[in-house]
Amino acid sequence: MTLDVSKVSAGHLERDAYLYVRQSTVRQVFENTESTERQYALRQRAVALGWPEERVVVIDCDLGQSGASCVGREGFKRLVAEVGMGRAGMVLGLEVSRLARSSTDWHRLLEICAMTDTLILDEDGIYDPAHFNDRLLLGLKGTMSEAELHIMRARLRGGLLNKARRGELVCQLPVGLVYDAAFRVVLDPDKQVQQAVRLLFETFLRTQVARQVVKYFREQKLLFPRRMRYGPHQGEVVWRDLQLRQVICMLHNPRYAGAYVYGRHRTRKLPDGRVQHRTVPREQWHAFVPDAHPGYISWEQYQTSQQRLRESALAYGADRRHGPPREGPALLQGRAICGRCGSRMAVRYHRRGDQLRPDYLCQIHTLQSAENPCQVIPGAVLDCAIGQLLLEAMTPMALEVSLAVWQEIQDRQQEADRLRRQQVERAQYEADLARRRYLQVDPSNRLVADSLEADWNQRLRALAEAKERYEQQQLADQSMAKQIDRERVMSLVQDLPALWNDPKTPSRERKRMLGLLIEDVTLIKREQIIAHVRFRGGATRTLSLPLPLNAWQGRTTSPAVVTEIDALLEQHTDGEVARILNQRGLETGAGAPFSSQSIRWVRHAAGLRSLKQRLRAAGWLTTQEFSAKLGVHYSTLKEWRRKGLIHGRPCREGGAWLFDPTQHHPAPKSTSKSLSPQQDHPHLAKPAAGGAV
Ligand SMILES: [Zn+2]
Repeated sequence: MTLDVSKVSAGHLERDAYLYVRQSTVRQVFENTESTERQYALRQRAVALGWPEERVVVIDCDLGQSGASCVGREGFKRLVAEVGMGRAGMVLGLEVSRLARSSTDWHRLLEICAMTDTLILDEDGIYDPAHFNDRLLLGLKGTMSEAELHIMRARLRGGLLNKARRGELVCQLPVGLVYDAAFRVVLDPDKQVQQAVRLLFETFLRTQVARQVVKYFREQKLLFPRRMRYGPHQGEVVWRDLQLRQVICMLHNPRYAGAYVYGRHRTRKLPDGRVQHRTVPREQWHAFVPDAHPGYISWEQYQTSQQRLRESALAYGADRRHGPPREGPALLQGRAICGRCGSRMAVRYHRRGDQLRPDYLCQIHTLQSAENPCQVIPGAVLDCAIGQLLLEAMTPMALEVSLAVWQEIQDRQQEADRLRRQQVERAQYEADLARRRYLQVDPSNRLVADSLEADWNQRLRALAEAKERYEQQQLADQSMAKQIDRERVMSLVQDLPALWNDPKTPSRERKRMLGLLIEDVTLIKREQIIAHVRFRGGATRTLSLPLPLNAWQGRTTSPAVVTEIDALLEQHTDGEVARILNQRGLETGAGAPFSSQSIRWVRHAAGLRSLKQRLRAAGWLTTQEFSAKLGVHYSTLKEWRRKGLIHGRPCREGGAWLFDPTQHHPAPKSTSKSLSPQQDHPHLAKPAAGGAV
């Protein structure tokens, strides 16, 4: 191939030539040295064109970077900068269009080259981007290169996806699953690994809370296997403390349910070159082959776990949906459903005396719009009734349940013990192995013998630690076993009602017991509270409860006393009635003496009319009305009243007077002041005096 030397001018030669060397993957860097050699051979061309060897600058710091974007490619950026500042007379590259595989990067470089009069050289020839034809050619090269990258990737991806759809693509397996020699997925033949994984799933199915699984493993001092994904020990299994993140990952991984899946996650490149991972719903998975290989749980169990995890996640959301039991006393926390709109009801507490009382309220749809809640249902009576219902339901099956619980506690302890014993056995095995290795080595090979001896010592220490851990835990188990002895469990059953009603039983436990039996309760408030209870087994019960009384209703006065009050009110003010009742030794519903205030409450509650209402109904007139009727001034009325010429009385103590219009004696011109001395001070008058006509 001949080079069009005429394009190179003295102006170009005054500046440096830049050789850009790029390899796209680390593997290429190591294996594809031939291409590297070709790239360096370009340098000789620059020399042939007239550049002194020391003026050919090599930029090769992008080794191992892909050309797909210039982000993170310091070498490419430097090249652009040098060209932009007019320091480059020529840019050299093997298939220059691959300098930048994204069109935008490439066209930008061309633009800058054209502006600064920089030549471009590759194996095919020499180009001047300032010339239209060269520019067109270079642009095409860039487009082709980008298209090629795209097709290559698509082809590769298509092949992968096809394989994945058939469930044949070999992917990294989570711990507990391995490929056998024929590349079939099998459970890890290492029994210890297998049992640890099994225990994890069993513990979750039992507790339903991922955090509890971690807690259990920590409490029992059990380690959990983890397969190293990177580093010098890649592929090896190490035993470490269990982490919550690992539990969550495992619970979400369908491979433990024996399903082959591919494409649960999507990656997306962000503008700054970082990669974002995102989990997609099942409909979008590339491949899903159920029952593809053996697993640790069934597909149904997997789905239940997913449901639980979703619910737990929701429990942290704004509306605190059906989550795990919390500390508060509201029995139906997370289980109450609004019968009007179908939403989960939230719990709110209010204080009554020294008790916390729950209210169930449906406010999900009204929270944002700040409207009143859809329904608010007082929870105290409801909780009581549900508790009663539960105790009734528990009686026949109480024995069975308790026995199952007892058995489970036993099994769990034995299982944990077995796993811990295996940890000791493994440590023992490794120590023995190290010992054998040490004994087999040629003693004259000091270096090897020393390191093997050190290894042996280390194994022995690990063994001692494992033994110690095992013994400690065994002691702890024994004291546990004493605490939960059979008799105690049995007595718990018989004492279930007592246990349930015992104020010392934590609310969380009560709710957990409830959760074992009741799925949810739908609540509707009408004249009564209607509660539709759905049991776990599918049975339903409907309770209807009276609306609970308000605080003052709860301490209501007995009906007999109310009748008495009604009679007295015919002639007496509230205060007078209170005094009369107190003289008779009667008490309010709350057990306190009566006051005008409490009489007013009773009147209000029982719908009794006050003295004033009664007198007005009987035609009695106010001071204004009476003075208008008689055509005299207030002060005259007052005078007449004092003299007993007209009959009136205050309708409450210190209040306005009412007058009986039928009792009217035309006033004499002069009267003696002492006509009716006891009425001079009506406020001091005996209660009966005013009313007696
Ligand atoms: Zn509602």
